[in-house]
Order: sequence, then structure tokens, then C-alpha cells
Amino acid sequence: MIMKKPKIDQGKCIGCGLCVSLMEKVFRLNEEGKAEVYGGCEGWEGCEGKIVEAIEACPVQAISWETAKGR
Ligand code: SF4
Repeated sequence: MIMKKPKIDQGKCIGCGLCVSLMEKVFRLNEEGKAEVYGGCEGWEGCEGKIVEAIEACPVQAISWETAKGR
């Protein structure tokens, strides 16, 4: 099974916190003030649509999809 997961390009991220406020179950700011992904969409209805919102909302296009193989 293929799971879609977001990834963050931390070189681009400016730490605005927008993705975190949209999706605090998936994104958080690390101690350097950059966004990171710490949760996935497994078993969460509507999650992918919210991630698409975050991808579109990010002012520097730092968020994209990573395709990871699930178990
Ligand atoms: Fe970083 Fe983009 Fe998230 Fe802002 S919306 S914290 S720039 S990844």
C-alpha cells in the first residue's frame, strides 16, 4: 500500500507557522523555527485535502508530497 506523506524543504521554510496552524497534527516547528513533519494521514478522513491547503498556503512553496511505501 502506498501512503502519501508531505515533506518540508527546510532550506526554503521561513518558519511562518502557517502550515502548523492549518495542520497541527502533521506539522510542527522544530527548535530552529523550521517546520517539520511529525505525523501522517493514516486513518484520518480529509487529511490529504488539508495538506493540499497547506501546500498551497505556504508562502515559499516549501511543502510537497513524498510517496512512501506503507507496510
Ligand atoms: Fe515553513 Fe511554509 Fe510551513 Fe511557513 S507554511 S512554516 S514557510 S513550511
